[in-house]
Amino acid sequence: MNETPSDIRTEIADLGEFGLIDHLTKLFIPTNTSTVKSIGDDSAVLNPENKHVVITTDMMVEGVHFDLAYFPLKHLGYKAIVSNLSDVYAMNAIPVQVTVSISVSNRYSVEALEVLYEGIRLACESYQVDLVGGDTTASLRGLVISVTAIGIQEAEKICYRNGAKPGDHIYVSGELGASYLGLQLLEREKQIYLSNPGIQPDLENQKYLIGKFLKPEAQRETIDWLEKAGIIPHAMIDLSDGLSSDLMHICKQSQCGAEIEESLIPINEQTKWMALKFHMDPLTCALNGGEDYELLLCVSPQDSDKVRMFPGLIYIGQIKESAFGVQLKSNSNNLHPLKAQGWVHF
Ligand code: ADP
Ligand code: MG
Repeated sequence: MNETPSDIRTEIADLGEFGLIDHLTKLFIPTNTSTVKSIGDDSAVLNPENKHVVITTDMMVEGVHFDLAYFPLKHLGYKAIVSNLSDVYAMNAIPVQVTVSISVSNRYSVEALEVLYEGIRLACESYQVDLVGGDTTASLRGLVISVTAIGIQEAEKICYRNGAKPGDHIYVSGELGASYLGLQLLEREKQIYLSNPGIQPDLENQKYLIGKFLKPEAQRETIDWLEKAGIIPHAMIDLSDGLSSDLMHICKQSQCGAEIEESLIPINEQTKWMALKFHMDPLTCALNGGEDYELLLCVSPQDSDKVRMFPGLIYIGQIKESAFGVQLKSNSNNLHPLKAQGWVHF
């Protein structure tokens, strides 16, 4: 199902390591003033402009984090960057540079890697970050891609997970659970395809769910808006493991509890419909589905009226004292302790 750009196949060995690096990175032109020296020297040189530097790394391994049967390489490159930028925004910082390291087997052609780097470039351009370095090695099997993102922010504006206070209002930046159902759809189509390669998957009507999984976006608008509005959340996290599990990270580190309300959790109609088709509870998908890359913000009640005016931000509950625990108020007004199911990685 995976598309390659053309029938031409150039072996990595034909270019060699240095030729390959030059070839893949020649279209990346740094634009940020904090990038002093980009690709080409022994190290990149950055100027943090008297700000704090935030740095985050994520690694994606073929067969563990992605399946090329349904993950187009261009989307993979895009998502690898965006998922790291999401971690930078979750600190209330502005991403400015990334490095990309790949470990790749000779099963991959130069053309396939070009497509991967096209996705990387799209994300870098769209979020105005500079690719300033990386590493390239051979692997015995498959593809590993590791991205490091670097962001800057004034020290007093950085948001940690441990700053939430009882009484804070909890907001999320968008609808939850869609990415998880996009993945379920693609997994199902893959199984159908494997048992009957004659059947072409019909995913035309599922662009929303699949798009949320294959081409997520990081929440730059929210961070830009907070800056303009002069609001610094007490705590923030990006929703990569699932609302339950990520809210519990905040509560654990902030030594507090929380109450969120079932009726307020934003779930798209398509997510609800598809969950029911898969015999799943839409609420469970929203609470435990991963990779939504929305932000969860805990803001002072004094700021809450202002935050409510930003159309992207949705109020879902309140931070409580730690003795309260972390609980969900159901539509029938019963309290249920949340469980951190999240993604099971191992
Ligand atoms: P060194 O031998 O000093 O580690 P390399 O030959 O690995 O240098 O890399 C040369 C330059 O290309 C460096 O600036 C490095 O950061 C960059 N680079 C290497 N691999 C990649 C990659 N996959 N993506 C982006 N930049 C890369
Ligand atoms: Mg190197």
